[in-house]
Amino acid sequence: MAKKYVYLFSEGDSSMRDLLGGKGANLAEMTNLGFPVPQGFTITTQACIRYYEEGELICNDILEEIDEKLTQIEQITGKKFGDSKNPLLVSVRSGARASMPGMMDTILNLGINDEVVKGFAALTGNPRFAYDSYRRFIQMFSDVVMELPKSTFERIIDDLKAEKGITSDGEFTADDFIKLVELFKQYYKEQLNEDFPQQPKQQLIAAVKAVFRSWDNPRAVVYRRMNDIPHDWGTAVNVQAMVFGNSGDESGTGVAFTRNPSTGEKALYGEFLMNAQGEDVVAGIRTPNPIAKLEQTNPQVYKQFVEISTNLERYFKDMQDLEFTIERGKLYILQTRNGKRTAQAAVRIAVELVEEGLCTKEEALMKIDPKQLDDLLHPTFAASELKKRTPIASGLAASPGAAVGKIAFTAEEAKKRAMAGEKVLLVRLETSPEDIEGINSAEGILTARGGMTSHAAVVARGMGRCCVAGCGDLVIDEEAKTATIHGVTYGPNDVLSLNGSTGYIYEGAIPTVEPEVGGQFKVIMDWANEVRRLKVRTNADTPEEAKTAVEFGAEGIGLCRTEHMFFEEGRIQPMREMILADNKEDRKKALAKILPMQRDDFKAIYEVMQDLPVTIRFLDPPLHEFLPQKEEDMKAVAKEMGITVAAVKDKVAALHEVNPMLGHRGCRLAITYPEIAEMQTRAIIEAAVEVREEKGYNILPEIMIPLVGDVKELRYVKDVVVRTAEAVMEEKGVKVSYEVGTMIEVPRAALLADEIAKEAEFFSFGTNDLTQMTFGFSRDDVAKFLDDYYEKQIFESDPFARVDQKGVGKLVKMATELGRSARPDIKLGVCGEHGGDPSSVEFFNLVGLDYVSCSPFRVPIARLAAAQAAIKQSK
Ligand code: PEP
Ligand code: MG
Repeated sequence: MAKKYVYLFSEGDSSMRDLLGGKGANLAEMTNLGFPVPQGFTITTQACIRYYEEGELICNDILEEIDEKLTQIEQITGKKFGDSKNPLLVSVRSGARASMPGMMDTILNLGINDEVVKGFAALTGNPRFAYDSYRRFIQMFSDVVMELPKSTFERIIDDLKAEKGITSDGEFTADDFIKLVELFKQYYKEQLNEDFPQQPKQQLIAAVKAVFRSWDNPRAVVYRRMNDIPHDWGTAVNVQAMVFGNSGDESGTGVAFTRNPSTGEKALYGEFLMNAQGEDVVAGIRTPNPIAKLEQTNPQVYKQFVEISTNLERYFKDMQDLEFTIERGKLYILQTRNGKRTAQAAVRIAVELVEEGLCTKEEALMKIDPKQLDDLLHPTFAASELKKRTPIASGLAASPGAAVGKIAFTAEEAKKRAMAGEKVLLVRLETSPEDIEGINSAEGILTARGGMTSHAAVVARGMGRCCVAGCGDLVIDEEAKTATIHGVTYGPNDVLSLNGSTGYIYEGAIPTVEPEVGGQFKVIMDWANEVRRLKVRTNADTPEEAKTAVEFGAEGIGLCRTEHMFFEEGRIQPMREMILADNKEDRKKALAKILPMQRDDFKAIYEVMQDLPVTIRFLDPPLHEFLPQKEEDMKAVAKEMGITVAAVKDKVAALHEVNPMLGHRGCRLAITYPEIAEMQTRAIIEAAVEVREEKGYNILPEIMIPLVGDVKELRYVKDVVVRTAEAVMEEKGVKVSYEVGTMIEVPRAALLADEIAKEAEFFSFGTNDLTQMTFGFSRDDVAKFLDDYYEKQIFESDPFARVDQKGVGKLVKMATELGRSARPDIKLGVCGEHGGDPSSVEFFNLVGLDYVSCSPFRVPIARLAAAQAAIKQSK
């Protein structure tokens, strides 16, 4: 049988999400459940993929299927597409597998033309409404399909308002809309050299193509990259019979969440507008009413809506985000989906759904996006400071958190200034999908217009950015770069503070405090512990970091970068002396200064970690990060070493490396200067002995040799370690356990992991260097050209953030198997940045590693990601 590309809503169900997209699958399910859904059909994601495969063309068999389904919809609705007496108008909307709010485009009222509009006016007895619908369609079609600028249409509308001396659209008459239709068509022809298309089928196919195309627009590509959505999923297209919320005072439209998307509170939450079309609510042009008010406006519809939304939530076992329309007193549900929510709300909803018996713990864990947990761990304003301040204005508390920054008036400016290291707030009249990168770069978002479901609110919430929306007291002049609040004008250098949890705006900077986690967050984390297999350790170089990580549930230290212990003021000097020493004696002198510092550092870390394992990595300093560059630093080193500044300069020049990332670092340093490895071993073992004696903790240091590519490198350094450790224990008369292992971060080590495993008690994959060396991309320079790779669709994501499963992952898998074949009980972990990235964690779980290690604040993310990975694997 030929493949099917178009499905009536009544032919699908919610299990067909991959094919029908989220929106299409849910519309199908609601149809099956008997909910009042305007009927229609879904063109599948497969059709989108074929469209791209065939050079951006919709082939004939799909066109025929569309025709066939259209005829069936005509039969179901009793209306006819393009018929002026009883016309069928449709909406055309995108709907990918994962919801991408605001990213794709919608066209309403399609099927209307010069003839149909007349019949429509006669049929509804409402010419004003009919021509308003027509002009809206021309606007949307011109924008989405033909890419004419939206602003010109707005200008034409404003000009007509000015001419008539009116201020709102509501004051337009039917004749005004007739005039607008003419002006819009004229403009269309001027710009495109062709008449506005009158053939409804031609309109439909053009719109479907535009939706397919929009899958590839830059905003969608950026959104996918930020949310790990693969490019080859494609989008489905939903074609649905129109119902009209703007057909009179008995009509209306709205959006609602079954629970509060900001706090998670179990209460219907949303907005509606009477006599309005969908876009009016979302665009934030008119200020909508809270949903509760619908009970007064139309109690019957309200009751029905409450019933339906409760049922949908029970059915989909999650908080729903619904769009509805009331057409002359009759309620229709236009779509339902699992609602986007803040991290706080996500945690609360997940816990309460289990308490209410609506879902299992495993199902609840799958509902939280691990990356979102970041938001829970973000700062808030210091309460004592906040008390002293008076807000200068307030808006809607659209997305929680605290943000402090200087004002950026455009998304571009926000991105640029943020990249230059400035903290900025994006302050706009309202935002649109084009602003997405600016929103992502900004600390917080402040808008003058729009409600809780406006673009800024929805997008900021999804990204976990603090957002205050719809601040009516804010007057923005984008050109002049000024924001005025109650007569006080602020410019690009002025600092504001935004409280996204209360909606208050303050002048100047307010200090922030780190959040405390507990309550429901702890419940979720405990559930995660019950199901995950993969252990989660932390990368910590200081006792403070270790403490934070343990509080977040870290089960050990997977990487302590010993060179990082020397970045501090007063510490770098002996390190420099050690690097610059040109004989063993001088080096030993410098090392003798370093030894007590290292020992004390290790002791402090062991005391925090107690009986948990601690992996300490030997020095791995890319030399350029440690050599003195400034004159004063050179002077200080010269003085301490008793040599001239010129001599220091000569040594620095001699040590200069063309590519320090591939230079004299890692185990190579210990091979040239074994006394460094001796000193570090001594510090590690002495600290373990002392902490055991003083505190009774059973410390298990894991000594990790970096940048090994050949087993002989490892063997050489390991011999130094064992010799020194034995000597120290002999001196102290005490035995402590320790292990020696290596990082697998040079591709050759991965290829020869069986040989290496004979000498290593553990492997820790250093996926930062492994990525660098597998791709041959410099870690320090890759950002300069990654954007080109995204733009040209060579990469979908940054391989330094999300592990490249195909290439780097293959090496990890191979080394895991080889390592275990040589040493079945070898301990395997990962300590590259990927250890805190949810999709990479899923991969490491699948490969069978024992643990991931990540920065302290990402520990909860990794714990949840590990739990989700285990749940997925068990399915
Ligand atoms: C790595 O290379 O993945 C690693 C953890 O080491 P570093 O980032 O210190 O090179
Ligand atoms: Mg490394």
